[in-house]
Amino acid sequence: MKRFCLSAMLLAITLLAACAPAASQAHTATLFAMDTVMDLSAYGEQGEIALDNAQDLIRELEGLLSTTREGSEIYALNHGETVALSPSTRELLDRALALCGDTGGALDITIYPVVRAWGFTTEEYQVPDSQTLTALLDKVDYTQITLEGDSLLLPDGMELDLGAVAKGYTGDRLMELFRQSEIASAYVNLGGNVQVLGASPDGDPWRIGIRDPDGEGYAAVVEVTDRAVVTSGAYERYFEQGGVRYGHIIDPDTGYPARSGLISVTIVSQSGTLADGLSTALFVMGKDRAVQFWRTRDDFDFILIEEDGTVTISQGIENSFSFPGEQGSYALEVVRR
Ligand code: ADP
Ligand code: MG
Repeated sequence: MKRFCLSAMLLAITLLAACAPAASQAHTATLFAMDTVMDLSAYGEQGEIALDNAQDLIRELEGLLSTTREGSEIYALNHGETVALSPSTRELLDRALALCGDTGGALDITIYPVVRAWGFTTEEYQVPDSQTLTALLDKVDYTQITLEGDSLLLPDGMELDLGAVAKGYTGDRLMELFRQSEIASAYVNLGGNVQVLGASPDGDPWRIGIRDPDGEGYAAVVEVTDRAVVTSGAYERYFEQGGVRYGHIIDPDTGYPARSGLISVTIVSQSGTLADGLSTALFVMGKDRAVQFWRTRDDFDFILIEEDGTVTISQGIENSFSFPGEQGSYALEVVRR
């Protein structure tokens, strides 16, 4: 009896030893796509093949959604061609247009002519004069485009820019792919858009660092499971002229870079598309409007960092939010319903 127990125990231990490394085996990939560096990690036996498929999916979506790549569906639409939209482009346009409406146009995917005038598409930066901007704003109005079946009607002179939502949508699609590949734990960082599947391989929530907008390192940490954590900030892509900093997030009401007092907006949500679209939109809205907007919804939480160092978070992430090490110069406010 004793001997049986011992050998059963030994067998159990061997099984554990055989399973444990495979279940938590890390597979990683790094690639440059959608104008940014992407890091992917998937854990488990199927990880390697899942990451190969993930990279193919990223390239496929980039090939459909890029504004600058000839041959993409968005490029063709922006050049007046009639396009039979792929299911992916259609789905993203559908969701993005809904978010434009929900945010009262703080997100507007027809902003492209203005983004180009500032030079953000070519990095040949310039401050356009106000007449130019007024004229271009005539061509910015997402309510004038209609999506019918697999075709999109884009009025003359209007152009699409899915830059504010494409990486978030890609994150959602990657999670779907990982789930189908029976991956239980995965992490992707698509140039600042983080999205995770399940918990981390050791079973604890993933700890995601929010970049310090004023310097190196992290301003905050949030612990999440099955979430997208997406940050928009004026410190990511900008230029300076005459001592003024011009960021790449444009207020569609004025045509000028949004100057709302916020320097970093992070959205935590189950949906990457929503998190990406709202991180851009809430940056445009500014704190008061952002908080008001949050009160009307139950599908996301936020971390807002203001120029004066105030950090405002929404109630839903109160217990998963922390400052790394010392709180430093940040003051914390929690907004409740
Ligand atoms: P990033 O892509 O750097 O992570 P965002 O998700 O905030 O940042 O997207 C910013 C991009 O979205 C800009 O580079 C521009 O192409 C586009 N954009 C800028 N302002 C707006 C806006 N108000 N609505 C929709 N798209 C915008
Ligand atoms: Mg965004």
